[in-house]
Amino acid sequence: MNSETHHSSVAAQAPDHGLIDRLASRLGVQGLLTDAGDKAPFEASARHGRGIARAVVRPASAEELAWVVQELVGADASFVVQGAATGLVGAATPSGSGTQWVLSTQRLRDRLEIDPVNRSAVVAAGYRLSDVNRAAAEHGLTFPIDLGADPSIGGMAATNTGGSRLIRYGGVRENVLAIAGVLANPPGARVGSTRGLRKNNTGLDWTQLMTGTFGAFGVVTHATLKLHPVQRQTAAALVAVDSAEVAMEILCSFEDALGEFVSAFEGMSGSALTAAVEHLPGVSAPFPVAPPYAVLLEVSSAVSKASGLDLESILMGWLETQIERPGMLDAVVDKPERLWRIRHAISESVQALGKLVAFDVSVSRSRFAAFRACSVELIAAEVASALVCDFGHLGDGGVHLNIVVAPETSVDAIVRLRSKLYQVVVEEFDGSFSAEHGVGPYNQAFYRCFTDQPTRALAGALHAQLDPQGRLGNVRLD
Ligand SMILES: Cc1cc2nc3c(=O)[nH]c(=O)nc-3n(C[C@H](O)[C@H](O)[C@H](O)COP(=O)(O)OP(=O)(O)OC[C@H]3O[C@@H](n4cnc5c(N)ncnc54)[C@H](O)[C@@H]3O)c2cc1C
Repeated sequence: MNSETHHSSVAAQAPDHGLIDRLASRLGVQGLLTDAGDKAPFEASARHGRGIARAVVRPASAEELAWVVQELVGADASFVVQGAATGLVGAATPSGSGTQWVLSTQRLRDRLEIDPVNRSAVVAAGYRLSDVNRAAAEHGLTFPIDLGADPSIGGMAATNTGGSRLIRYGGVRENVLAIAGVLANPPGARVGSTRGLRKNNTGLDWTQLMTGTFGAFGVVTHATLKLHPVQRQTAAALVAVDSAEVAMEILCSFEDALGEFVSAFEGMSGSALTAAVEHLPGVSAPFPVAPPYAVLLEVSSAVSKASGLDLESILMGWLETQIERPGMLDAVVDKPERLWRIRHAISESVQALGKLVAFDVSVSRSRFAAFRACSVELIAAEVASALVCDFGHLGDGGVHLNIVVAPETSVDAIVRLRSKLYQVVVEEFDGSFSAEHGVGPYNQAFYRCFTDQPTRALAGALHAQLDPQGRLGNVRLD
């Protein structure tokens, strides 16, 4: 790290009225990164290229963070908040102008307190999901939002992360009891709380205002999370079917027969399954022939097998009742972790196949099969070379409609396909153009196009109140 020598060169780019010096003197070398090499990891986004950070500031407590925000706003500096940078819409990456700061929560790890009686955890924004689950497991508890990345808790709150077990537990919105944050206006004002209340019917709620609004209205410093009992037994199967219609029939039968034990129902096209199996070392194909479509289904319970409840036997018994179902091709019951390894590898495996075009959309479950058929047809008509490798959280109507296209496919063709597909999902199928990844520079234009005027007007009024100079983040909800 070479913060001192770089201070002067950064300061030479634009006047900062002593801001760099004040930040450096209070936060020290760990708290302020200005060297190009140190900044580089904070300039990359998980999917959408890179930006250029003016500098990276890393406060280590809520007090420091509030002071930093006050300083940045006071110096008229614009900044983007960044957690673990696993977001997929480019919202945590600085712009390419070189003038935007990154406010990283990486060092904001001053509280991780488990309350086993209240079944809750107060967590500073910079802790990762895996940190929380490690601490909660010591009390037989878990924060059950499950995904193939390890995001920060602040980022999860800001993006209202969904994940594979939403079918049972809901997303972050349903599992956050309180949020404490810092505002850009009044600069550095601290709002909200960390109270672990399950009931608090007293008016405006910062918790939900700051959840799923992508950091547009303030910086999350702490979240109080609802914990759930650790699952003491889990059983899973991979089922091959000949169509998405049959997958949805199986979902209904599965829920009807296994009720509250159902904890995941993930769909994947044959090409997505094949991509993952071929990408993973030491994994053999689960079926002799790749099926057109497959589902990973999971049951779990906090009640252990020793009690006499044997979920694997129950699952196998139910699968036997499905064998005669037209369109059901095959099924394997395997160790859940083996099946999840395949599922979680899909995203990366598909990306490795070539030029990726990704969609994160949702429709109501009852319209999923029709939507999938319609979108596959649309994709083929617009980009003939496209290989559709869709997968997703089918139990909640979500699909990552990822496609691989020939390298020579023009930007125009992709832009046209994106517009048409979003139009189909929103206008014909009453669905969402961003099911769980949220809104960022990558899809901001579609937010404007598909969000109704009264909603945007209210968001605009909140922006005007909470960030009148537009200093906070690179997402606008007005
Ligand atoms: C392999 C992979 C699998 C994924 N699977 C899923 C999935 O199944 N479901 C799902 O929902 N998402 C998924 N994601 C997306 C991503 O993991 C989530 O959006 C995640 O919650 C983002 O958290 P983060 O800490 O990485 O946030 P970042 O990427 O750092 O930031 C995301 C947004 O939150 C804002 N932000 C971050 N921290 C704060 C804070 N403290 N206060 C205010 N705003 C803040 C940023 O400014 C930005 O707008 C996946 C990503 C990857 C790479």
